[in-house]
Amino acid sequence: RIAHKFSQHITRPLERLVTYFSSHMPVPAQPASYFSSQEIETVRSQLQEAQRVMIDFQEQLKAKVDSKTEELIVLNAELEKLSSHDPLTGLLNRRGFEQVVDSVYPLACRNQSNVTLAIMDLDHFKHINDKFGHNAGDACLVTVAQTIEEVLQRDSDYVGRFGGEEFVALIIGESVEQHTDLLESVRKTIEELTVEYEEEDIQFTISIGAYSLTNQYDMSYDKMLCTADKLLYESKKSGRNRMTHKSQ
Ligand code: GH3
Ligand code: MG
Ligand code: MG
Repeated sequence: RIAHKFSQHITRPLERLVTYFSSHMPVPAQPASYFSSQEIETVRSQLQEAQRVMIDFQEQLKAKVDSKTEELIVLNAELEKLSSHDPLTGLLNRRGFEQVVDSVYPLACRNQSNVTLAIMDLDHFKHINDKFGHNAGDACLVTVAQTIEEVLQRDSDYVGRFGGEEFVALIIGESVEQHTDLLESVRKTIEELTVEYEEEDIQFTISIGAYSLTNQYDMSYDKMLCTADKLLYESKKSGRNRMTHKSQ
């Protein structure tokens, strides 16, 4: 009995300590009445210290994981933006524009809203680059993007840069006359614009091809794009700095 009592005296406190430790409960900071022996008290304080080191480590790890997660969220947002936006002008790139079109174009057709798709291409832009340099050309592209955005600024106007010196716009709602007025205003504003770059005054014009759906809505976006492109070609062929528009 004495041996049994003696062994209980040692094993019970140890078992309790192990239970605290393994179930992640704080090991008691103060010796409880049953931590009678010096040896058990040593084990308790060592376990407590080990637990403190472990918790500190976990907290540091969690802080690191949290900060890396935040960095990843920011990086992902940047990547998403890069994949859908043109870094020079900040406009939607072709991919981003077509993602938007995928959602808004079928809806506009279902609602039988007036829809206009316009392709806009700077005239003789190669000459601008050749004469003033590529950086001056970039400055012109940025100004053109800002001009188009300023004119087409309703929630239902979508603007993108298709690449090179070619821009695109999808205009939804209201009347087709309003759409063509807006596009004409883009053309005219650019015609009257002077881009100042390193003491050079640069002037240029833009040609536009635009196609509108007004009562039949069975045309795919791709077909509409192809039609607008042909109309742009007509504008180029007939002298540039103009808009060629047709409606279905
Ligand atoms: P057109 O009136 O027939 O459209 O003539 P264009 O000279 O504008 O057309 P072309 O397709 O021959 O040349 C387009 C030029 O656009 C060539 C290229 O140097 C320039 N370009 C394309 N992308 C960029 C760009 O990101 N920055 C600059 N600065 N120039 C660009
Ligand atoms: Mg051009
Ligand atoms: Mg072009």
